[in-house]
Amino acid sequence: MNKPVALVTGSSRGIGRAIAIELAKNFRIAVNYYDKIEVDANRAQAQEVLDLIRQAGGDGVILGADVSDPASAAQLIEATIANLDGIDVLVNNAGINKDQLMVRMTDSQWHDVIDTNLSSAFYCSRAALKYMMKKKQGRIINISSVVGMAGNAGQAHYAASKAGLLGFTYSVAKEYGPRGITANAVAPGYIVSDMTNKLPAEVTARMTEQIPLGRLGTPEDIAALVAFLASPAAAYINGQVIRVDGGMSI
Ligand code: NAP
Repeated sequence: MNKPVALVTGSSRGIGRAIAIELAKNFRIAVNYYDKIEVDANRAQAQEVLDLIRQAGGDGVILGADVSDPASAAQLIEATIANLDGIDVLVNNAGINKDQLMVRMTDSQWHDVIDTNLSSAFYCSRAALKYMMKKKQGRIINISSVVGMAGNAGQAHYAASKAGLLGFTYSVAKEYGPRGITANAVAPGYIVSDMTNKLPAEVTARMTEQIPLGRLGTPEDIAALVAFLASPAAAYINGQVIRVDGGMSI
């Protein structure tokens, strides 16, 4: 029998990549990369993820899309269903940060971050839920952030998008729980990725001091929880936000 299907948005690198590779042990994977005009590197990175998945005995497809665009996000869900015969798990992972003090923040910086981090989850979930409802089962897992609960200077748009994802998660959990679909959020702390690698070394050192476990998280630390939330063992977990931050926020 074919394995069930999971789509991970923004899985060409970083946390999404680790989630795709981990989920591939039990799911066929739609590896989504950001389909930007004239950027073939993203496609190559996604292909590399799929190659790794296949080498480990898994399978899937790579699908380009801009999840901040409603039509592109809807096409991504359609393409997942068309190529893999369904969608059982949707991981809304794609995200960006464009840090800026609020008084200097432009409208486009605000909208880019909100559209990519929050509206994308709405666009993808709306399309996936229609299919999941017919099957009376499904899992939606949203990658939020501890910043969505605590706020952060220079990240008003990012924090608002990540807090928005929590309200979104609770609402999906209530609205679609009765249809056999769960929705949960994962709130990573400070994780090693391209997103955090661009921060100055002194900021990283200061952040590490605030983490009881004394280290930054890895993408694999996040992937392990996502895999659990996607598994049969998590069937009764719904509408929760789980922090994976080494104890940083306690
Ligand atoms: P990353 O390394 O920058 O990767 C982000 C991924 O999202 C990339 O694959 C990127 O594609 C993709 N993406 C961006 N915009 C997209 C779009 N419009 N359509 C499709 N894909 C798009 O970031 P990361 O650290 O792995 O972050 C993954 C998620 O975890 C994000 O939601 C982030 O907010 C969240 N998070 C990260 C941390 C952390 O410390 N790293 C902490 C808390 C939460 P490209 O390769 O084309 O850019």
